[in-house]
Amino acid sequence: MSDIRLVNLTKSYGEGNAVSDVDLAIEEGEFFSLLGPSGCGKSTTLRMIAGFVRPTSGRILIGGDDITALPPERRDIGIVFQNYAIFPHMNVAENIAFGLKLRKLPKAEIARRIEDSLRQVGLSGYETRYQRQLSGGEQQRVALARVLVTEPRILLLDEPLSALDKGLREEMKFWIKDLQKKLKITTIYVTHDQDEALTMSDRIGVMAKSRIVQVGTPQEIYERP
Ligand code: ADP
Ligand code: ADP
Repeated sequence: MSDIRLVNLTKSYGEGNAVSDVDLAIEEGEFFSLLGPSGCGKSTTLRMIAGFVRPTSGRILIGGDDITALPPERRDIGIVFQNYAIFPHMNVAENIAFGLKLRKLPKAEIARRIEDSLRQVGLSGYETRYQRQLSGGEQQRVALARVLVTEPRILLLDEPLSALDKGLREEMKFWIKDLQKKLKITTIYVTHDQDEALTMSDRIGVMAKSRIVQVGTPQEIYERP
C-alpha cells in the first residue's frame, strides 16, 4: 500500500484549474519531488495535502485512510514553507515549543523533544538565540525542527531553499536529503529547480500547466526530459 495516494485531485479557481486530475502514489520513506515552473500548481497540490486548500474534486489517502475531509491539525503532516516563519519575539526553544504547547504536553516532555529536534537539525545549544542571531540556513533548520518536534508522519517542503543564497542552497540540499534518509520520513519536496530535484529525489513528478506530465526516477527524468 502506498503511503500517500492522490486520486484525481483537482482545484479550480473560477476560470481555470490550478491543479487538474493529479494522480500519484508515493511510497513509505520516499523522497518525492514535484518539479515544474512557477504557476504550474505545485504549491496548491501541497496545500491540499496539508489541508489548507480544499480540493474541488478528488481524494487524498494517507496509509490507506481517506483524509480529504480532515482538518489540517488532524492530518499528522508537517509543512515547511519557503519563507521561514520564525517568531522574532521568541527564542529558538520557545519557537519550537510553540506547536507542542497547543498539545498540552508535560514540561519535561517538551524539554526533551526540543533537545532531540535541535540535535536532529544540528543546532544543539541554540535554544536561547533569537532570529536576528541566526543565518538564513539556521532559520530554515529551526523551521524544520519546529515541524519535526511534532513527529509528523509526512513531511511537506515547499521550496525551502529558494530564499537562500547559492552556496548555502548547495549545502542545505545534501543536508536535507541526509536528514530525510536518517528519519525515513515520507517527504514531498516542491521545487522549480531541476538540479535540486535530480540530486535529492528518489522519484520526481514533473508538473506543467496544472497537470503531472511525467513521473520517474532522476535518471529516467534526466534521460527523457
Ligand atoms: P506553483 O506552486 O507551481 O508556483 P501554484 O499552485 O501556487 O503554482 O499556483 C497554480 C495556479 O493557481 C497559478 O496560476 C496561481 O495563480 C493560481 N492560484 C493559486 N492559488 C490561488 C488562489 N487562492 N486564487 C486564485 N488563483 C490561485
Ligand atoms: P508560493 O510562494 O508557494 O508560490 P504564492 O506566492 O503563489 O505561493 O501564493 C501565496 C498565497 O497566495 C497562497 O495562499 C496562494 O493560494 C495565494 N495565491 C496565489 N496565486 C493567487 C491568485 N492568482 N489569486 C489569489 N490568490 C493567490
